Amino acid sequence: MSDPLGEERAAALAQIDALTRQFDEIVAASRASNADDEHDPEGATIAFERQQVAALLAAARRRLADAEAAVRAVEGGTYGRCESCGGPIAPERLAARPTARTCITCAT
Ligand SMILES: [Zn+2]
Repeated sequence: MSDPLGEERAAALAQIDALTRQFDEIVAASRASNADDEHDPEGATIAFERQQVAALLAAARRRLADAEAAVRAVEGGTYGRCESCGGPIAPERLAARPTARTCITCAT
């Protein structure tokens, strides 16, 4: 049985898990090398990496929130309805992006 929302949720959770570990490693590395100084070239690289991972982590958390909102919409019977105009979301759009909250017209 295909469960695109469950798969999307699991994928988002795995992504958050991996990124959290990566983030912790960067923080640990910066502590170990004591290169957390922005003026130190190595410190600047670490600060940049940390920022990149933090941004990816934020995106992964949004992805998880979208998947969970979609699961709730299925339970509430509103799945596949546009949050903005109330119209139906095209099945092709839901197939490509199971967590879509708006129809293609409202999304563009
Ligand atoms: Zn719409």
